[in-house]
Amino acid sequence: MSARIDLEDRYCAHNYHPLPVVLTRGEGVYLWDENGKKYLDMMSAYSAVSHGHAHPRLVKLVQEQVATLNIVSRAFHSDRLGPFLERACKLTGMDMALPMNTGSEAVETAIKAARKWAYTVKGVPHDKAEILACNGNFHGRTIAIVAMSDEPQYQEGFGPFPPGFKAIDYGNIDALEAAINDNTAALIVEPIQGEGGIVMPPEGYLRAAAELCRKHNVLLIADEIQTGLGRTGRLLACEHEGVKPDGLILGKALGGGILPVSMFLARREVMNVFRPGDHGSTFGGNPLGATIGLEALNILMEENLPERSAEMGEYLLSRLREFDSPLIKEIRGRGLFVGIEIDSALGSARAICEALLERGLLSKETHQTVVRLAPPLIIGKAEIDWAVDQIQDVLGEMDKLRLAS
Ligand SMILES: *Cc1c(COP(=O)(O)O)cnc(C)c1O
Repeated sequence: MSARIDLEDRYCAHNYHPLPVVLTRGEGVYLWDENGKKYLDMMSAYSAVSHGHAHPRLVKLVQEQVATLNIVSRAFHSDRLGPFLERACKLTGMDMALPMNTGSEAVETAIKAARKWAYTVKGVPHDKAEILACNGNFHGRTIAIVAMSDEPQYQEGFGPFPPGFKAIDYGNIDALEAAINDNTAALIVEPIQGEGGIVMPPEGYLRAAAELCRKHNVLLIADEIQTGLGRTGRLLACEHEGVKPDGLILGKALGGGILPVSMFLARREVMNVFRPGDHGSTFGGNPLGATIGLEALNILMEENLPERSAEMGEYLLSRLREFDSPLIKEIRGRGLFVGIEIDSALGSARAICEALLERGLLSKETHQTVVRLAPPLIIGKAEIDWAVDQIQDVLGEMDKLRLAS
């Protein structure tokens, strides 16, 4: 084993179980390890690297900005924040934005906004606001956020949890209707569940959910930290159903694969619940992050990355569907957001990811049974063809081993 893995293992908390590779360099869709071996990145740091590694436009701009102005805190204005938030609002059709750093912080911001909106606008009695969240969700790792999770491991040993969250079945519109009452502030939902295993709700779910929310004066908050910014073939995954949420959460790719940059966006009526001192972040909206975020959005639109994701994603799905492997239970996805569900009785997604690593393809299993494929949106056909060949070979080999044993 690599000495670097030993070192990390000794000093870094064991809250992850990384694949045994030590990466030292990234460019475009490729990464290199400490031995100079090249890998195709089909993971993109959980979609944070949609622009590819070290995008030349971003690198150039960061070098200029880093020598100019980086951190001032929101105690002062900067010349970089306004243009970034204007672009984000205009692209997504939202009125205002609150900049944060990590996705979890933006989700926390959304929860605070929804609760305060419920008390000050909707008229919910003090401390009675309820937020609805879906089974199978992933919204991050803070205490309040894992309170919304139904994944036992995310909660085990971390209680007690704050009240005010209610779980409903994902994709089930009757369950949503039954859960809404006078104290319901918001529904927070992923248009496609990412960490949950690329789980797609039935067609029309989001649209029906939006209508129900409007009818009952409940905020629809879309967590598009992973599905947003072109990942599913549209700028926002909500657009597939013509839905405009009341609140929108962006992160991951918003940082251009360089820094954590996130935000909560909303209608003015919702965002106006925040007054000075209510909520904040030392680093949120910093000039360096704002510069990167604005350029990340510009590149996304100028390089037509959502369209590319739609086109290449369709190609990837159609190539994957040519396989005839008993190990595959289901192949699903939208744009370059694809999951291969492995029949757990016949094979393990982790073992497949390890075999793909050997062949120079990086992916990561989610929920033990799903191999997630979410490459940078700049990926081309030839690279997809190569990846599909590797996956096909690995599945073929595993099936042979299984039959032989
Ligand atoms: C990754 C993710 C988060 C959390 O983002 P962090 O930057 O890891 O805090 C929240 N929601 C969704 C849908 C995500 O995929």
